[in-house]
Amino acid sequence: MTTAVSHSDVLIVGAGSAGSVVAERLSADPSCAVTVIEAGPGLEDPGLLAQTTNGLQLPIGAGSPLVQRYETRLTDRPVRLVPIVRGATVGGSGAINGGYFCRGLPRDFEWPAIAGWGWSDVIEHFRAIETDLDFASPAHGDKGPIKVRRTHEMTGASESFVSAAQRAGFPWIADLNDCGPELVSGVGAVPLNIVNGVRVGSGAGYLIPALQRPNLTLLAQTRASQVRFTAAAAVGVEAVGPQGPISFTADRIILCGGAIQSAHLLMLSGIGDEAMLRAVGVPVVAPLPVGMFCSDHPEWVLPTDWTVATGRPVLEVVLSTDDGLEIRPYTGGFVAMTGDGTAGHPDWPHIGVALMQPRSRGRITLLSPDPDVPPRIEHRYDSEPEDVATLRRGAALARELASAATYVGEPAWATSQHLCASAPMGAEADPRAVVDHRCRVRGVENLWVIDGSVLPEITSRGPHATIVMIGHRAAEFVR
Ligand SMILES: Cc1cc2nc3c(=O)[nH]c(=O)nc-3n(C[C@H](O)[C@H](O)[C@H](O)COP(=O)(O)OP(=O)(O)OC[C@H]3O[C@@H](n4cnc5c(N)ncnc54)[C@H](O)[C@@H]3O)c2cc1C
Repeated sequence: MTTAVSHSDVLIVGAGSAGSVVAERLSADPSCAVTVIEAGPGLEDPGLLAQTTNGLQLPIGAGSPLVQRYETRLTDRPVRLVPIVRGATVGGSGAINGGYFCRGLPRDFEWPAIAGWGWSDVIEHFRAIETDLDFASPAHGDKGPIKVRRTHEMTGASESFVSAAQRAGFPWIADLNDCGPELVSGVGAVPLNIVNGVRVGSGAGYLIPALQRPNLTLLAQTRASQVRFTAAAAVGVEAVGPQGPISFTADRIILCGGAIQSAHLLMLSGIGDEAMLRAVGVPVVAPLPVGMFCSDHPEWVLPTDWTVATGRPVLEVVLSTDDGLEIRPYTGGFVAMTGDGTAGHPDWPHIGVALMQPRSRGRITLLSPDPDVPPRIEHRYDSEPEDVATLRRGAALARELASAATYVGEPAWATSQHLCASAPMGAEADPRAVVDHRCRVRGVENLWVIDGSVLPEITSRGPHATIVMIGHRAAEFVR
């Protein structure tokens, strides 16, 4: 039997990195009744909460209750199928991630014809979400709930990497969150939303404190399966909670499920490529290119034999190059990062070589009208020869920078797990756009997408800080 839940002014699907901020911002108006549904567990259990606050590990190992797992096809020639995860709890992927909290670059916001998203529009929102403990310049905030700090006493491997990069002619960049309008190639300490080992993302910083408000309700373990429409207006959401099916109604519905799940939900609800929807028997509500132009950071990982540093953030420094590479000397391998030793092999620390402005575009495809059947995810990382050539140059540079005494193995294909742009923002005439500049789904009413899906393409830096900023910025459009 389906339970009908009372009507809300705003219904938010997903309490993740963006959704947590949107929920806090909109519920600041006491007359606005906000309901958030989250597929993963809430964080009342102190054991689960502790896993999200421990910034020195990623709770993504085998059996973690805090993630949703998928498989992606990383490359086509040869086919490489790899598992990926997304955070599924209050704070979303930001509650389980590496804590690298680096703003996109000003040039990432030069989106043609998208009004209201230039650097001068977004900088105040970057400032609002943070308290930077290292810098008090006008570029930084001092009142935001997310504290940002860089590592000052680095591990030996990070220190050696910095020295090698400087010897190779790369300058030290003091503040990666304020390094001018152009990408400055150089090496710098990663701004982290981890302070004294404690990770605070937008779940802990925004949503959890706001849950005291009587007009804000969070329903955990509740997964949305479809948006319901009357004509072209979104009027409600079907979901499955701990007690079975639930039907929600709301005046305004906001999808914050992240790039995979918001795209999946749109397609299950009839918003997507017309031929694809018809092929699986989903009636078309609005033909839009959902999931057709996804973007992520390809990464090659090279095993090394430097000493694993436990009890450290996973990444202390990065090197950026002119050709858009980010070289990452990780402090440990998978075991140190996750605490999961079930694979039974020794830990290999590695250097990551990531391409930050890839040309390749991935795809998310609906395979079934059944919400329990995951969509097909294809990264298509080897679809652009220039991307592969740049990664190869990056691997050679990484090898050069590792000290001569360090063994560096052959690179393996991987992904940074930063998938974005599955429902990209764009101008009216842009055939790729799924949402407009105010994050409204085109061609329907009362439906917004606010999360990493709406980035027109991936940022030149890890996307977390930018996605939290998007939540803060776009909440204004729904209000
Ligand atoms: C392992 C890992 C490490 C990463 N490390 C970094 C890093 O160090 N720095 C960085 O910049 N980026 C990092 N990222 C990427 C970054 O964390 C994400 O891009 C960002 O958090 C995504 O934010 P979002 O709001 O789009 O989605 P999410 O934060 O993933 O939130 C989506 C939320 O919606 C919920 N949800 C989904 N579908 C439904 C549904 N149908 N019904 C109800 N709820 C639903 C999910 O459970 C989740 O809680 C990492 C990602 C991963 C997976």
